[in-house]
Amino acid sequence: MIAGGIDVGGTKIEASLFDGNWHAVETRRIETPANYAELVAAVQDQVAWLEAQQAGLPLGIGIPGRHDSQSGLAFTANLPASQKPLRADILEAIGRDARFGNDCDLFAYSEATLGAGRKFNTVFGLILGTGIGGGFCVGQKLFQGANGTVGEVGHLPFPASLNLPQRACGCGRTGCFETLGSGPGMVALGQHINGHTASPAEIAAEDGEAFKAWLSLIAALVASLQCTLDPDCIVLGGGLSNIVGVAERLSAAAQPVMLKGTSAPIILKAKFGDSSGTRGAALLAVQA
Ligand SMILES: [Zn+2]
Repeated sequence: MIAGGIDVGGTKIEASLFDGNWHAVETRRIETPANYAELVAAVQDQVAWLEAQQAGLPLGIGIPGRHDSQSGLAFTANLPASQKPLRADILEAIGRDARFGNDCDLFAYSEATLGAGRKFNTVFGLILGTGIGGGFCVGQKLFQGANGTVGEVGHLPFPASLNLPQRACGCGRTGCFETLGSGPGMVALGQHINGHTASPAEIAAEDGEAFKAWLSLIAALVASLQCTLDPDCIVLGGGLSNIVGVAERLSAAAQPVMLKGTSAPIILKAKFGDSSGTRGAALLAVQA
């Protein structure tokens, strides 16, 4: 075995053991507890399971949200750990070293090194799910800026020219891409345009005005990414990436809104679905 990875998610905590070909040889899932002390104990339990398979393996742990670089306190909407020193408490509980990464970063990292983006130099992993987030890799290494916010593209404002409603976002601003582009956002967009409630799968299958508005919205996000990070490739993850043909439809919608004389990034669906968190964490553990 080469490394172990743990993905601490809002509903489950998954641990996997990877061999030299980066295949997950063994995987164990447990439910995510609802309180902080049990959460730390559950991560400790997964580390103990990995250690029982092979002691002293390089270990990576993915956690949603961010950590304050000064105080070490967690900011996370999906875990009972906000304003807690989660990384420090996990390290104390497990009594060994581990590398930590943000879940969106680890998705981007696993896709850029081993997944759909592996042939490209600059890869943005874009998660279109409950929220919109991502991570950016250059030369198959994670790019980390001053605050670790390079993937927070869901909180960029969408263009006024789209003529879409300004809704409040969880981040405290209004008119963020996430408010209409995430899974719940697409439902709200469908309500706004069609006047009735439909699921993202229904909206996509209907392929009417609401889905076309969503494609235009995400194409505008791709245009924003092109003018800032200018990635060669965008790899789509999250629940909305499972809409049949969505990468092709977004590619077609994006090209007309790129800067004149430029090509849109290649847009691809992720190779690793739900397993990108553990794989990315394990990869991080062996990164020099
Ligand atoms: Zn926002």
